[in-house]
Amino acid sequence: MPLLLQLESLARGSVSLNGELPLSDLDMVSLDDLVEPAGPLAYDLTAEKNGDTILLEGSLEMPLMCECARCLKPFEYRVDLRNWSCLLPLKGEESVQLNGDTADLTPYLREDTFLAFPQHPLCGSECGGIAKTAENGENPAQSGSAPDEPKDKNVWAELDKLDLK
Ligand SMILES: [Zn+2]
Repeated sequence: MPLLLQLESLARGSVSLNGELPLSDLDMVSLDDLVEPAGPLAYDLTAEKNGDTILLEGSLEMPLMCECARCLKPFEYRVDLRNWSCLLPLKGEESVQLNGDTADLTPYLREDTFLAFPQHPLCGSECGGIAKTAENGENPAQSGSAPDEPKDKNVWAELDKLDLK
């Protein structure tokens, strides 16, 4: 089910929208082999009509499976857009497409979630340690042999924390 909003319902005030958009409705093709959508797009939004615009405010979340761009280790990532907002004009060139009285909000959610995908996914900021070795002057250029053994434990602990919230 796409996320549909009936404009008429906004006449009485703001409307709460929350639920999940399954991947099958999102048609989200990742341009990056290292990043794959791994679950539905969860939304928790408020819609409000203000004159000729609809204001959407709330949060968007989507789990991703990533591969580290440096060590190729798979790891989970979560797109987490708090305080997301979007203005949908009802008039003009950029106006939202209406089907009768109904607006499909799916494209707006999809677009901004997609833009929040990591561009250069790393399993942790320490991965590869390129910056560090350069600082120490040991390996001025990019070192092919990245140290990615014991430190990684910390990285996973960090990720776990992030997931718990
Ligand atoms: Zn890595």
